[in-house]
Amino acid sequence: MDVFTREVVCANCGDPTRYPASILEQIVQRQSESLPDATYINYACPRCKTLTRSPLAREGRIVLDTDRSKLLADLTVYCVFLRCVQEDCESRVILLAPVKRAVIEQELPMHAQTNWRNRSAACLNDHPPAHPLRVGGWVKWWPQ
Ligand SMILES: [Zn+2]
Ligand SMILES: [Zn+2]
Repeated sequence: MDVFTREVVCANCGDPTRYPASILEQIVQRQSESLPDATYINYACPRCKTLTRSPLAREGRIVLDTDRSKLLADLTVYCVFLRCVQEDCESRVILLAPVKRAVIEQELPMHAQTNWRNRSAACLNDHPPAHPLRVGGWVKWWPQ
């Protein structure tokens, strides 16, 4: 099946990565901020490993079924929940987190703690994630 996709552009390093729009809709529904210029999500960049609020590109593109295997070819995409710095805050920092497939799912919390650093990701109440990072849970979204 052909896949409608949009890009997320890392607010730290500028690296663009293309995602199925259906995945982006899920993260937007869970936690996002709509500003006049764009919709922003919390994003763990697979290149610079920095957590930011990053914009979704407006324009989409169809990836044909024949090219589907090239989409996110070496990445597993998770939705990751991080505890925020404020212990009693009920919002969490919810991230779109593409991770190299070499990282096995059970190692995700350790991978996050040792590789990610926060720059501008925040919960709905504007709290940054707790430091060191504490993964409270995750859902695997890709490959489906
Ligand atoms: Zn980046
Ligand atoms: Zn919070």
